Amino acid sequence: MIQQNLPLSGSVQVQCAYCQGKGRDRFGVMSPQSTCQACHGTGTHWVTLPLIDCVYCRKTGISPTGTRNPCLACGGKAVQSQANRSFSCPRCGGTGTNQANGLYCYLCHGSGLVDSAS
Ligand SMILES: [Zn+2]
Ligand SMILES: [Zn+2]
Ligand SMILES: [Zn+2]
Repeated sequence: MIQQNLPLSGSVQVQCAYCQGKGRDRFGVMSPQSTCQACHGTGTHWVTLPLIDCVYCRKTGISPTGTRNPCLACGGKAVQSQANRSFSCPRCGGTGTNQANGLYCYLCHGSGLVDSAS
């Protein structure tokens, strides 16, 4: 885990949640040496502050659809850029999940948060 005092803005490097920083595919679908498809083997992602948790994958970075792919909402990062989102999403009730099809909620992009309460 990268430990540092986070600045309030700008970009930071976070550990790839999908491969847990190993740079290898989480499930070794092709082979145990397969490159992580989320971070392309770097083990880290650059993200723009401030960050919010990706609730769709429950901060695992793994798609909750059971396809053994990186989370489509956060791309395997487990976090998303907040981008002024601070209100609970009225469509998914803050779960980040579209209950109708199990995919991420498009209104909040799986974060459970939207930028206005309306
Ligand atoms: Zn990775
Ligand atoms: Zn996610
Ligand atoms: Zn939503």
